[in-house]
Amino acid sequence: MIAIDLKGKRGLVMGVANGRSLGWAIAEKLAAAGAELAFSYQGERLKEDLEKLTRDMAGTQLFQCDVTNEEELKGTFAALKETWGSLDFVVHSIGFAPRAAMDGRYIETTRDDWRTALEISAYSLVSVAREAEPLLAEGASLVTLTYYAAEKVVPKYNVMGIAKSALEASVRYLAYELGKKGVRVNAVSAGPVRTVAARSIPGFMKMYNKVGSIAPLGRNVTHEEVGNLGLFLLSPLAGGITGETVYVDAGFHIMGMELGEE
Ligand code: NAD
Repeated sequence: MIAIDLKGKRGLVMGVANGRSLGWAIAEKLAAAGAELAFSYQGERLKEDLEKLTRDMAGTQLFQCDVTNEEELKGTFAALKETWGSLDFVVHSIGFAPRAAMDGRYIETTRDDWRTALEISAYSLVSVAREAEPLLAEGASLVTLTYYAAEKVVPKYNVMGIAKSALEASVRYLAYELGKKGVRVNAVSAGPVRTVAARSIPGFMKMYNKVGSIAPLGRNVTHEEVGNLGLFLLSPLAGGITGETVYVDAGFHIMGMELGEE
């Protein structure tokens, strides 16, 4: 058996709100593989929970970083430069769209809601990569989280689908540019998982149950399975993979229309 050993590797995990966050699912696997972790959280309100969650992880550093705040973003990477000097990986597990943009028709998306969704959910990967670049070690790797609605229409997902398309395209452009330094960039496309962000999508539970019944494996994916894919993509085992969107969705995305019984 080949085990993933990340002892001596250091990375930043962005977007853990609580123990159900997909960022946390990946962080737990990275920590189990021996990596040293730093975390960034969106605002003061999330700090205490993150402190509790990471209490047993040795050497953890926490930074407040709202990705729309350039000062906090620059401050996070400046602090990491000072403490660690370099980074082996970054997990970007951040997404947001105003509720109003997901409740109504896509055609009615306001300019402001479009900007907010695209800025937080897609542009932030670009700004994070830019700030991280001077610190990234040879063989370093970035991973972001995306969703099927980037490729196909998922009613109600609306502007988040467009943000995820932009995110996946950014993964390819960043992979091209950073590849020259031996740095890889990939996206984990997770099937629906019950998290805070997911539950704020109108009709999420109905969709969750339907997806589980259609997927070839006859179920939804688990937090652990998403964590395993994140770990794999950030590890040397995925050394030849970059610019890719990899699905972990119990196979749902391969399905077309089902033929009914006669
Ligand atoms: P979550 O609510 O646990 O995580 C979302 C995170 O985004 C939170 O930590 C939140 O603080 C952070 N965030 C939002 N705005 C921010 C800002 N301005 N600055 C910094 N951080 C900000 O939910 P999750 O489901 O774990 O979401 C993580 C990622 O996974 C998102 O990109 C989401 O779209 C993606 N994803 C989720 C699912 C799912 O079904 N849960 C499926 C596919 C992809």
